[in-house]
Amino acid sequence: MLKTIKRILIFSGKHRGKLIQSFALDVIFSICQAMPIFAMVYALNSIIVARDTGENITMETVFLAFLIMAVGLAGKILFGYLANEKRSIACFSMCSDKRIEIGDRLKRMPMGYFSSNRLGEISSAVTTTIGDIENKAGDILDRIIVGFVHAVIISIVISIFDWRMGIISILAIILGMIVNSILQKKSIDIAPKRQEAQGALVSAVLEYIQGISIVKSFGLGEKSNRAVDEAIEESRKRNMGLEKVFNKLIALYLYVFKIAACTIILMSCYLFSGGRLSLLSTLMMVVSSFVIYSYIELIGTVSGVLRLLDSSMDKIQTVEEIPLMDESGRDIQPENYNIELKNVSFSYDERKILDNITLTIPQNSTVAIVGPSGGGKSTICSLIARFWDVNEGRVLLGGYDVKEYTCESLMRNISMVFQNVYLFHDTILNNIKFGYPEATMEEVVEAAKRASCHEFIEKLPEGYNTLIGEGGSSLSGGEKQRISIARAILKDASIIILDEATSSVDPENENQLQLAIRELTKYKTVIMIAHRLSTVRNADKIFVLSGGHIVQSGKHEELIREKGIYREFIQIRKKAIGWNLG
Ligand code: ADP
Ligand code: MG
Repeated sequence: MLKTIKRILIFSGKHRGKLIQSFALDVIFSICQAMPIFAMVYALNSIIVARDTGENITMETVFLAFLIMAVGLAGKILFGYLANEKRSIACFSMCSDKRIEIGDRLKRMPMGYFSSNRLGEISSAVTTTIGDIENKAGDILDRIIVGFVHAVIISIVISIFDWRMGIISILAIILGMIVNSILQKKSIDIAPKRQEAQGALVSAVLEYIQGISIVKSFGLGEKSNRAVDEAIEESRKRNMGLEKVFNKLIALYLYVFKIAACTIILMSCYLFSGGRLSLLSTLMMVVSSFVIYSYIELIGTVSGVLRLLDSSMDKIQTVEEIPLMDESGRDIQPENYNIELKNVSFSYDERKILDNITLTIPQNSTVAIVGPSGGGKSTICSLIARFWDVNEGRVLLGGYDVKEYTCESLMRNISMVFQNVYLFHDTILNNIKFGYPEATMEEVVEAAKRASCHEFIEKLPEGYNTLIGEGGSSLSGGEKQRISIARAILKDASIIILDEATSSVDPENENQLQLAIRELTKYKTVIMIAHRLSTVRNADKIFVLSGGHIVQSGKHEELIREKGIYREFIQIRKKAIGWNLG
């Protein structure tokens, strides 16, 4: 339990102060909560004194007892509210910070990390897992601290009246904590088994649902249910088994406190009857024994939640422990934008995609990479932008190895436009500003004009504030592509990578798109992958990539004269729609 509290404190980062303040407020809250006991002691004492002296209790006594109660109640409400507020703010802020921190780290992780199964891991980490911490950590801390402090304060009051009872009440707290720690240990041992059964159940159900059309069409409803049924049964058995173990321990935990309370009542009555305990102390013990453990008892049921918090923090930690690509990177501003690949070899897994590639792209030149689909053209671009690290060789930008840069300082120099445009579910304005968030409206409009998209944006009902992806804003492929070009124009990076940027655009949009691309690539270092000859033929240099090698390189006029893949390509593609020579 203490370990988990400590972890939450570490997890809270710069909001630790607020959490600790909320603990302190919790302590004051607990003292206020115990105030009625003080009022009662005072009132009982006055009644007994009055009885002994044969007088009535005075109005002042009644008033004072009432005042103590009222102060206690008011304090309880006030400090309860303050503690709750501080704690909620601390929990929500620490979790939102964590989400942002993980988001920032994701940008600096190797692309290899984002395989499909990891995507589930990451998205659940930033959504539900952190959500669990956000919602539960505060409550749990509150319950533990209030329960503990309340019991200790009342035990101290009891000890003042009678040290023997004090010892019993404190012993019960210690014993209760021992049972609780056994409960924690059991829950740590057992949790993986539960998760295992849960995991099996989820995959069985998923498989069933994914194959539901086959199940239906083959009428196998009955039979194919078996795997799911078995998984459900297994999960039920495990969960029942676990609950049995837990319930026994939780019952034991509660027994400890109930027995201690009964012992205090019995002993004080016994001592009273022997004349060894005053009436006031006896009444005091009897009343206190009913309330002393009422809050600490509630801690018994939190061990499951503590475990959940622990495993949630474990999951976040695994994401945080993934090494960043640019841990040792520097913020470099290169003096030129020459790009060089030197003896680069690369494979995603076993299969070699690039084999000993060497090529140079001088600053301000336009090069095209052509070759069969799947040949590794996009991969070369990904290596330049360091989405992946090369297996052998070096990729240099402005004379520096891309590994020397921080991801941010590297990407400052590069804009990429892909075939499949990804626009965020946000306004057109924000989508354009994505590459340069500080841009003014004038700069955005200027970029949009250069990307030939200002006109159609103006015609939309909400103009630049139109939400993309919502009703009324169905943009065509070409329009989306031009927005992504406006984004790149605004970013104004020195190196532009166009990866089949014009491939999926209909002929009507083609002209405007070409104009936009011309604007984007003015005075830049350009790498284009294109399947249209019209775009490739004007390149300063064309690299033909095949079988992981650069098999030909040169200008269009040179390559067309050479016997080789390029000429064959042109001849085949000339007949196809995209490769007309005009
Ligand atoms: P091109 O752009 O020339 O069509 P790519 O560079 O996209 O080719 O891909 C080269 C090869 O690498 C292809 O066979 C492709 O299937 C494979 N590949 C691409 N991306 C990945 C990836 N993330 N993981 C594994 N293999 C990949
Ligand atoms: Mg490609």
